[in-house]
Amino acid sequence: MFSNSITKLFSTNYPIIQAGMIWASGWKLASAVSNAGGLGIIGAGSMYPETLREHIQKCKAATTKPFAVNLPLLYPDLDKHIEIIIEEGVKIVFTSAGNPKTWTQHFKQQGITVVHVVSSSKFALKAQEAGCDAVVAEGFEAGGHNGREETTTFVLIPAVAKAVNIPVIAAGGIATGRQMLAAMILGAQGVQIGTRFVASEEASSHLSFKQAIIDSVEGDTQLTMKKLTPVRLLKNNFFQQIQEAEARGADEIELKKILGRARAKQGMYEGNLDEGELEIGQVSALVKDILPAGKIVANIWKEFSEALQRPLNQ
Ligand code: NDP
Repeated sequence: MFSNSITKLFSTNYPIIQAGMIWASGWKLASAVSNAGGLGIIGAGSMYPETLREHIQKCKAATTKPFAVNLPLLYPDLDKHIEIIIEEGVKIVFTSAGNPKTWTQHFKQQGITVVHVVSSSKFALKAQEAGCDAVVAEGFEAGGHNGREETTTFVLIPAVAKAVNIPVIAAGGIATGRQMLAAMILGAQGVQIGTRFVASEEASSHLSFKQAIIDSVEGDTQLTMKKLTPVRLLKNNFFQQIQEAEARGADEIELKKILGRARAKQGMYEGNLDEGELEIGQVSALVKDILPAGKIVANIWKEFSEALQRPLNQ
């Protein structure tokens, strides 16, 4: 039985965490990952408060194993989400896209384990100072919202591991057991995986989006919208429109107008591949099938264990 600071922190079999992702990770995906021995996360960012409550309750009914909720701190009804998380007895919260100082102690007072997502050593230290139990260090390769500085996972993990004393979970560009092993050799104690789990049977993302992920090749994603909130997207008509506007110096107001409302829902949930916002990581180029989430966890762990035993000259 494998055991380290991350499996102990979350009481899981493996240090494999499925990322909280808007329009993809509801109770079905989170409970399937938790049942397979990883940590499943419900992505609250795209859920109205009562939808989040329903997903938490369904997740509790579908697994006796630990699971978490990812809370983007920029969410408009954040207070309601926090109330629901506490009322429903959620034990682990991953916070992202905001200042960890604001809410960490509030959760800790309720006995909740708190992990914050960061894209630099500076913010990792802030998360540690705020009392977080661990950090997710998310590199440039990651899908969706991302840091402006473009620090890659290969550089970020050792830097964050050196900067903080709390456990580090590596994210960005990880979909396989070998990548997991590489991240752990660089200093991480666990991995958070998003893209690979979007192409799962249980993800709530539209089938056309899942298909677009497995059809994608190297170079098909790019970080854009640096003037608003930097985000890595699969290239499509919407992406081109934003790129062209940024290239001719469009200001924030114009970019927001082009973005409009609910682009992410349109793309990832409703399957409008041309005009929707398709948030996905670089590693989509390596994902070639849609699998049950439990199989994904098992495959990653098998490959990780085999790679660990393999001499480097083979
Ligand atoms: P938009 O403003 O374009 O649209 C809001 C979307 O969120 C709509 O699709 C809406 O659903 C849904 N929604 C859920 N709860 C609420 C609420 N209380 N008020 C308004 N809308 C709500 O935003 P985005 O789609 O770009 O982002 C939505 C949210 O997702 C953000 O507020 C943020 O919290 C989160 N987010 C987090 C990311 C991350 O952490 N990596 C990445 C991107 C977004 P409906 O259409 O059914 O009304």
